[in-house]
Amino acid sequence: MALSTPASFCGRILATSLFVGLALGVITSPLLGNAGAAAPAAGGGGQNSGALDLLMAGNRRFVKGRMLHPDQTIGRRQDLAKGQQPFAIILTCSDSRVAPEVYFDQGLGDIFVIRTAGNVIGDHVIGSIEYAVEHLKASLLIVVGHERCGAVAAAVAGGHADGHIGSIVEAITPAVKATAGRPGDQVDNTVGTHARMTADALRTSDPILAAAVKAGHLTVLAARYDLDTGRVELLKANDEVEVEAATEGETKAAPAAGAPADPHAAAPAGARAAPAPAEHAPAAGH
Ligand SMILES: [Zn+2]
Repeated sequence: MALSTPASFCGRILATSLFVGLALGVITSPLLGNAGAAAPAAGGGGQNSGALDLLMAGNRRFVKGRMLHPDQTIGRRQDLAKGQQPFAIILTCSDSRVAPEVYFDQGLGDIFVIRTAGNVIGDHVIGSIEYAVEHLKASLLIVVGHERCGAVAAAVAGGHADGHIGSIVEAITPAVKATAGRPGDQVDNTVGTHARMTADALRTSDPILAAAVKAGHLTVLAARYDLDTGRVELLKANDEVEVEAATEGETKAAPAAGAPADPHAAAPAGARAAPAPAEHAPAAGH
């Protein structure tokens, strides 16, 4: 079903995913197998329960240097050649230090990743997310900004940016204005605010994402990645300054302490009951 969408588009997505995943596999440990493969077998098909917990558990492993490198076996690669069902979508920066497959300790086929400098959005980004929600049934989207983001720093510094870089600065400028005059480091303040504003924009993006959120099929969160500690911190929905760290401990029982930024969600994605697959009707025409 995952591949019932336009073959060329999906093929490109899958090829890109495999390329990134394989590259990471070479760097890490491609033969360690699925010992830590906690990813739901059914992927995102209406089974977002636990998705946040899976990511945060992976991040805790990464922070402690106890990665399991799940889903990077030859078998996993071959299984995925038939189709993909990633359980979460990550929008983050292109910065070479913030690869989400690494800092969430995930493998091939686990997360659908979109990266742009400064994690800015536009039609291509939103369309990619819509594709992952509507056709791949991913039910959790996290916008992850990061400490000392160069794109955000450029926007804070202001001034002229050459070429198309200006479009990135322009996309971050609203967050720069929103944080002007606040105490603390403006780059870091802007990183958080920009992630939150981006999550808000995606949550209310018509027609597909807003409808998915309203129907309970999609939860959108904002987060910040700390370059020094490797920790991903969920951002509070209504607090522009403070961040809420991911829960400690290794169990999956407790959802992350951060309130979901999604005002439509009754609970964090990790604590939500999985909607029946039938509720998420396949898109017409595919
Ligand atoms: Zn960045």
